[in-house]
Amino acid sequence: MRIPLIAGNWKMNTTVTDAEAFVQDLLDRLDRIKGVEKLLCPPFVSLVAINMMLQDSSIKLGAQNMYFEAKGAYTGEISPLMLAGLCEFVILGHSERRWYFGETDEIVNKKVKAALENGLKPILCVGERLEENEAGKTQEVINRQVEIALDSIKPASDLVIAYEPVWAIGTGKAASSEGAAATIKFIRNIVAKLWNKDVAQDLRILYGGSVTSENVAEFVSQPEIDGALVGGSSLKAEEFLGIVNQTAAIKGKLLSP
Ligand code: PEP
Repeated sequence: MRIPLIAGNWKMNTTVTDAEAFVQDLLDRLDRIKGVEKLLCPPFVSLVAINMMLQDSSIKLGAQNMYFEAKGAYTGEISPLMLAGLCEFVILGHSERRWYFGETDEIVNKKVKAALENGLKPILCVGERLEENEAGKTQEVINRQVEIALDSIKPASDLVIAYEPVWAIGTGKAASSEGAAATIKFIRNIVAKLWNKDVAQDLRILYGGSVTSENVAEFVSQPEIDGALVGGSSLKAEEFLGIVNQTAAIKGKLLSP
């Protein structure tokens, strides 16, 4: 049985002080919600402080990126060794990393490998751009991204995949829940072919792109969709709590009718 996951990607927002105040406001209410894994991914500089705040809670912590080398002369980079022990998850291959910072599928592959080798759970982001979607190339793009990202990596059910169509991120134009579920099913089939059916069935695959408390119910009502990677709405306490609460209620009913 796949435990639903709601991950908040704060992106390059919040100072350490802001981050601490936000978590303080959210902590008890978020902690109490059962049946969903709750994950916060603040900027690197807040990881230590938030890690301490979450010590006795059920809320998980993740980073938004990392480099694939363990250590060395890579000024400004953060290694898997630095994250291991501090957080459980790491977002990799987010479209903003791919398009603003030139991350290739091959780099994403090295990062996924390094994360798993260091006991971190990668959240591998894949998704097509608007022009690729309009040209009917969604499956081709996703297939390439997943195949290269998982190349030479042993089956690992700790991997999470987030299907995030680039045109839906931060635009207020979410994908349709049926469309997202179909692409997620397609991704699960790719993993079944690359790895095996059992791991593909165990793997959590999230939808991401303009998820709000208004539309989350549509997405998590789809059995294929195991939760959401949430950007903008994860920075508003009531919104994020609404998303997590609705996911717990809907997935609770779907998993034990
Ligand atoms: C994201 O950053 O992964 C994301 C999905 O952003 P938003 O929810 O703001 O579209």
